[in-house]
Amino acid sequence: MKTSKSIFTSAVLVTLLLVLICSPVWAQTPETPTYRLNINRDFGYGNGADIKGLFTLKVVGPEDLASVSYYIDGELMSAVTVSPFSYQFNTSQYGFGPHDLTAEVTNTAGKVFTTPARHMNFLSAEQESAGMAKIVGPLLLLMVGVFIVVGLVQFAVLRKRNPNGIPLGTQRNYGYAGGSICSHCGRPTPRHMWGFNIAIGKFDRCENCGKWSVMRAVPYDILRAAEIAEKSTSADQPDFNHKSDEDKLRELIDKSKYE
Ligand SMILES: [Zn+2]
Repeated sequence: MKTSKSIFTSAVLVTLLLVLICSPVWAQTPETPTYRLNINRDFGYGNGADIKGLFTLKVVGPEDLASVSYYIDGELMSAVTVSPFSYQFNTSQYGFGPHDLTAEVTNTAGKVFTTPARHMNFLSAEQESAGMAKIVGPLLLLMVGVFIVVGLVQFAVLRKRNPNGIPLGTQRNYGYAGGSICSHCGRPTPRHMWGFNIAIGKFDRCENCGKWSVMRAVPYDILRAAEIAEKSTSADQPDFNHKSDEDKLRELIDKSKYE
């Protein structure tokens, strides 16, 4: 009986020790809070700690909040007592430069915790545009580069494919992007997948004359009619070799009249 009692006692002691070590309640002290301060951008600029504009402060962690007070450099910004305990502010309400943001959390048990400070840097309008330029500048350069490369590739491909342009009256393959009538040469041309889509059509290159224009997709039957029209245009202005025998004869008769 005596041994079983001592085993029971030591078991209770070990269990108690395990509870003490493992329980977060016991392990937690006000110096190591589980609450964190979140800074969410609603409108404006944010790049790491550099921020400018409208932001919302919110505490994340256990949901037993009773009230949250937000501080900037130790000075109270706002004390919030209603869920979701968030606070919206604009960086322009405070001076430019470095600021420490903290939240003092009171939970429903009445315990007070302070979140680790968030070291932020409120930017001026000039700093923001400088920061934007750093981000947007290389992007713009990249886009211009892509434009140039795509243009050169198109030029090379088109030259290879159509060294002398498309012969008049050729039935074109218009494909997925459809076709259009070129506003420069008035001839039908396929639109390209790589053409630049803009609101009123595709900014694309004509396969006949090589000029760029905004091309709206035109119904298939109109394109076919335009192809046939090309042929009749060529028949209206034939060179001598292609004249019919009848025309040649008439010309000879006309000449003989003056002789
Ligand atoms: Zn054209």
